[in-house]
Amino acid sequence: MSLRGIPASPGIAIGKAFLFDTRQLVVTEKDIKQDVIPSEIIRFEEALIKTRSEILVIQKKISREMGVQHAEIFNAHLLVLEDRMLIEEVIEGLKKERKCVEYIFSKVIAKYIKVFSKMNDEYLKERTSDIEDVGKRILKNLIGAQEKTLSDLKEQVIVVAYDLSPSDTANMHKKNVKGFVTDIGGRTSHTAIMAKSLEIPAVVGLEKATTRIKPGDILIVDGTDGDIIINPDKVVLKKYETKQQKFVKFEKALLDFKDKPAITIDGYKVEVSANIELPNEVSSVIAHGAEGIGLYRTEFLYMNRNDVPDEEEQFEAYKKVAVKLSKSPVIIRTLDLGGDKFLSQLKFPHEMNPFLGWRAIRYCLAKPEVFKVQLRAILRASVFGNVKIMFPMISGLGELRQAIKVLDEAKQELRNKSMDFNQDIEVGAMIEIPSAALTCDLLAKEVDFFSIGTNDLIQYSLAVDRANEKIAYLYKPTHPAVLRLIKNIIDSGHKENIWVGMCGEMAAEPGFVLILLGMGLDEFSMSPVVVPEVKYVISNVTFEDAKKVAEQVLKLPTGEEVEVFANKRLNELIPWLKKTKKQ
Ligand code: PEP
Ligand code: MG
Repeated sequence: MSLRGIPASPGIAIGKAFLFDTRQLVVTEKDIKQDVIPSEIIRFEEALIKTRSEILVIQKKISREMGVQHAEIFNAHLLVLEDRMLIEEVIEGLKKERKCVEYIFSKVIAKYIKVFSKMNDEYLKERTSDIEDVGKRILKNLIGAQEKTLSDLKEQVIVVAYDLSPSDTANMHKKNVKGFVTDIGGRTSHTAIMAKSLEIPAVVGLEKATTRIKPGDILIVDGTDGDIIINPDKVVLKKYETKQQKFVKFEKALLDFKDKPAITIDGYKVEVSANIELPNEVSSVIAHGAEGIGLYRTEFLYMNRNDVPDEEEQFEAYKKVAVKLSKSPVIIRTLDLGGDKFLSQLKFPHEMNPFLGWRAIRYCLAKPEVFKVQLRAILRASVFGNVKIMFPMISGLGELRQAIKVLDEAKQELRNKSMDFNQDIEVGAMIEIPSAALTCDLLAKEVDFFSIGTNDLIQYSLAVDRANEKIAYLYKPTHPAVLRLIKNIIDSGHKENIWVGMCGEMAAEPGFVLILLGMGLDEFSMSPVVVPEVKYVISNVTFEDAKKVAEQVLKLPTGEEVEVFANKRLNELIPWLKKTKKQ
């Protein structure tokens, strides 16, 4: 049997399926005898005490590192734990139904969640997520379940999941996860982006993978074309083993190219950099010949932990990257939590439209005390390399000015303490919201560079959720609207003599590279693994040819036509690429 999904990270993986379900803790309904009731009550009380002390530990850390106001959020959690009505209801249920306490508790908490989520009062409605959070913690302690993570797998597997959060993915080790597949998600969801960084073949948006695949099934994951084969016969297995070897050979051939500069045949030079999520990816950046870091997604520092990284820890992380990259640029993007990146101890309220919600720079400007911790850490690290600061999700000049103001305050705070930093540190804005793309002539006057975030720019300008597999067919980087916006951003930047880069996934597709090169993009930043291929493309075309391609595609009426045209020209100009990739 085979399934088709969205290719998220290239390569072929063959291995045993491991079903990973993060959605629910499994509670079994178990009858108990009358005389067990007192010990079940004790078990319940112990779980409450344990949960309380866990929450107090987190609260203390948050209070120490971020201030008392942030820690106060957890008071609501503590109140749930002390709710007499809830506790009585569980004890009553135990006596009446004579079922194990986890079963009774899960029923009671589900009832509470239902009642609260239907409240008209906004304040009470918002308590639903507190009840949910605490409920899960108590249940986990009752069952004695370990927090499920992918960090301690005992054998090499292919992970099959409904969804994986970026933090689940960050917990994966290439050693034990050969590949992964998910029911939901799109090509530029952060889970897919992480898979690429880790060089793990992945297919997302399969819709029914978790129901069709059984634990222990043998799977082939074709992350290049988006196919999954379940329990293949010998012939199919052989075919994919050959494809796997060819892929490895292709990657190796490109690696020969990694240390050559990205200069076109007629001598036009651009920069090819890499995107990272975690400091330890720097070795991959260097191994693939990137000329710098065009995007350091710092929010991953905040994930998979019970506390928040303080200034020292952040400083050390940024310094480590800056030192390793020596004179090459390291663009550190300030916190961009929200959208599809949650799961940190910074509490975000539940929102109807998280991609349009209280996230990234909006959150940071509302919480200057959190923001400044990061800004001071970046500034201090700037002494150790070629560090630049970049703000995400800028929607217009007012917001940019506010961010720069907080940065100036952070600088002043360091001066007051006689702490060193690069006084001339460059500041850039991500252009990933249409309103910024349309006013970038104004923004260009007040920053040192732009980096185009096409992952978001596409989703916002086409109104297509980047992580939704059902509408992935509409997610088109080549849509004329997107191309016009990109052209406008590049031209506006150049008019003000600032350089313009791109750190969205679009910059990593060979056909699109041709268009972007021709439009005058100065810097291309992508997952380290793709760097050699993009360098190869740039070095094997002329700037003149690329310019003609860009001019042509801007006249075409649909994204499909643009894609066909750009790929056709790419194959004519560099036949080796397609021939070797598809052999
Ligand atoms: C983007 O939006 O294109 C981008 C590079 O940032 P992220 O994928 O982290 O949203
Ligand atoms: Mg973005």
